[in-house]
Amino acid sequence: MVLCIAGYDPTGGAGLLADVAALAGLGVRAAGAITALTIQSPDQAAHFSPVDSNYIDETLTTLLANLPISAVKIGMLGTGEVARIVGKHLRRLPAAVPVVIDPVLAAGAGGALCDEQAFDVLRDELIPQAALIAPNVPEAERLCNLTIKQPFDIERVARRLREMGADYVLIKGGHLEGDPIDRLWGPDGPRQWKNQRKIGAEIHGTGCTLAALITGMIAQEKPMDKAVGIAVEMLQQAISTSWPPTDEGWRFLGLVN
Ligand code: PLP
Repeated sequence: MVLCIAGYDPTGGAGLLADVAALAGLGVRAAGAITALTIQSPDQAAHFSPVDSNYIDETLTTLLANLPISAVKIGMLGTGEVARIVGKHLRRLPAAVPVVIDPVLAAGAGGALCDEQAFDVLRDELIPQAALIAPNVPEAERLCNLTIKQPFDIERVARRLREMGADYVLIKGGHLEGDPIDRLWGPDGPRQWKNQRKIGAEIHGTGCTLAALITGMIAQEKPMDKAVGIAVEMLQQAISTSWPPTDEGWRFLGLVN
């Protein structure tokens, strides 16, 4: 069972609903602690309402006390107040429960999903507890305050994120030009996966889905590099069967299985 700490995207493309769909494809059960409710569409930047802090606090207390959680996946945090409560519960997790972080900063159609205070908590309190952090290029740049222009910069950023406390760092290559290369750095050295760029239009929820797949496989005790490699391949499959619900804007991922 994976505990997903995530925002709610009512379109079903990203956030908790995407996590549940990805984990179901692996045969892994999801529990969900919602951090915020969002409203968004391809032509409307996201805006959100955070959940009440007592609600997230009690939810996490109850889930962690009563469910056999094997791994935790963290997505959208929203506000500093919610992020601090998440951090408090993470510090109490048994060391054997790995934490995977998708550092969600903004929605694809625009709109911040993480305020300044939540960003500080993410960087200073949550990354040090991460088994894996999986930023895209803009997220990695902001977390490290560095600009990525060439492959060497990616390595510098990955090294910095490991120094900040993450065991493994997966920098996703979708925002760079050319065919996307996803690069993993960890205690056992670098690995990378190159894929063909399939579709130009933005595919909503790919980050959530990839991180959920990795977390599900870690919960099934796969080693990190295997989990990432299989997840990257499954996501490619979902991208190649993605479909546009309307004439313009997002594509939705195909089913993950
Ligand atoms: N979490 C929520 C609740 C969202 O609404 C979004 C994007 O809109 C994301 C996460 C990030 O989505 P993506 O996987 O496209 O980065």
